[in-house]
Amino acid sequence: MPLSRLTAWEIFPFESDGLRVVPLKKPELPESSRRGEDGLPCDSCESIGRGEVWHDSRWRLITFSEPSGAPLVMMLLPKDHFDLTDLPDDLAGELGRLVVHVARAIESLPHVARAHVSRWGDGGAHLHVFFLARPEGFVQLRGTCLAIWDDLLSPTPLDVRDADALNVARALESSFGGAAITQ
Ligand SMILES: [Zn+2]
Repeated sequence: MPLSRLTAWEIFPFESDGLRVVPLKKPELPESSRRGEDGLPCDSCESIGRGEVWHDSRWRLITFSEPSGAPLVMMLLPKDHFDLTDLPDDLAGELGRLVVHVARAIESLPHVARAHVSRWGDGGAHLHVFFLARPEGFVQLRGTCLAIWDDLLSPTPLDVRDADALNVARALESSFGGAAITQ
């Protein structure tokens, strides 16, 4: 297949010379099970407490042990095992408010221009919503390619990342409730 017009965008992180599209594979039906469904263990249920910077009785906000190129990458998960499409209405309503409050807290960091929000869910069946902070002024990192740039950029020092995460957690505690976790 020909290269897409995306490769000509200024936000595309690779030179287009020599780039080729991989062949499109045939559909695999039925698809293999994800972690946390059809009896497979759920790593999200098994890792409660790990990386948590904020929680309340039903939700947790985490950061990762491995460094990221983006200044801050966070993940919001329900404590109980639900995917997006089977969240009860009360949790669905809370998710909407939490996404707004977390994004607002991240975008209030002085060096962050945008908080990108995404839910993929192809690997694990336990809902996990990603927040990726785009650093202010780095307009080349705008848009969907930030998820790729995150792997390419020099890692953000963990002490800087952790200070930002704690500020987000404290802002969330203040605006939404729950508790920031200070280790
Ligand atoms: Zn789970």
